[in-house]
Amino acid sequence: MSQDTILIVDDIAQNLQILGEVLSSHGYRVAVATNGLQAIAVAEKIKPDLILLDVMMPEMDGYESCRKMKLLPDLENIPVIFLTARNSSEDIVAGFEAGAVDFVSKPFINVELLARVKTQIRMKHLMAELEQKNIELEDKAIHDDLTGLFNHGHMFERLSHCQQLGIRYGTNLSVIMFDVDHFKSVNDNWGHQVGDQVLKKVSHVIQDTIRKTDIAGRYGGEEFMVICQETSLEHTFSLAERIRINLEESDTGYDGLNVTISGGVAESIAHEPVEQLVNRADELLYKSKNSGRNKITQ
Ligand code: GH3
Ligand code: MG
Ligand code: MG
Repeated sequence: MSQDTILIVDDIAQNLQILGEVLSSHGYRVAVATNGLQAIAVAEKIKPDLILLDVMMPEMDGYESCRKMKLLPDLENIPVIFLTARNSSEDIVAGFEAGAVDFVSKPFINVELLARVKTQIRMKHLMAELEQKNIELEDKAIHDDLTGLFNHGHMFERLSHCQQLGIRYGTNLSVIMFDVDHFKSVNDNWGHQVGDQVLKKVSHVIQDTIRKTDIAGRYGGEEFMVICQETSLEHTFSLAERIRINLEESDTGYDGLNVTISGGVAESIAHEPVEQLVNRADELLYKSKNSGRNKITQ
């Protein structure tokens, strides 16, 4: 496990020394500051796991320093414990109101101080883990596992959002629906795993061809959707054509296996339900299928 760093802040050198020795002899890495202002600067630089903050200091006292740190995104999650000789109820409340998680009165008892430090650092790590898990879960909830593209549900959310923006700013919104041609025979002749690789290949070609402002998703099994904001039907059609051609010309990595897609392109009509827009693109996609495949229809 990596070593935890504690920033200790006190204007009296002897206090820093005693505290520093107690902490480093228990395996912590220690950094020091001698006033509230310096504490913020050092904290921003080293991002400690915990801050032990004296209250009475020249230039900037502990309360103000703590309040300022809690306003900085980089520092707001670092737990602060006040170390103070002032331990009236008012002082303690003032410390919590400034954003501290705990306080220890001076002169401190080593084992008590160490127990409180250990608890707060453990909590901080648990919170960070939880936050990371939440980010991962949120990410998983909107992406498709196989291709990494956005999933069906998220594409509809984005589509509704784009349509609202389109209505507000009077910009165009178009969608492309793609479907892999004769994909069932890819699975039948090459196996499901090769089928999966083909779906990944299609998603890469789509991602490599679209612009940053376009939004690509896996709509279903072997169906893909691209949302083009602020893009006319003509431009969206050209993009769909480029994707179709890029896929046709790309190497699947399997000798004798060629993959093509068909597509339908539709432009949004203001206030039309997004499902209707998708249905129109879908109908045009099936026109492409019925007129020979490897084709885009607008
Ligand atoms: P068409 O040109 O008319 O679109 O013919 P098709 O064979 O592509 O269409 P069909 O709808 O008959 O078959 C689609 C196949 O896609 C059937 C299904 O098993 C397969 N499929 C759907 N999802 C996946 C997946 O995640 N992986 C693999 N390997 N196959 C999938
Ligand atoms: Mg299909
Ligand atoms: Mg298909």
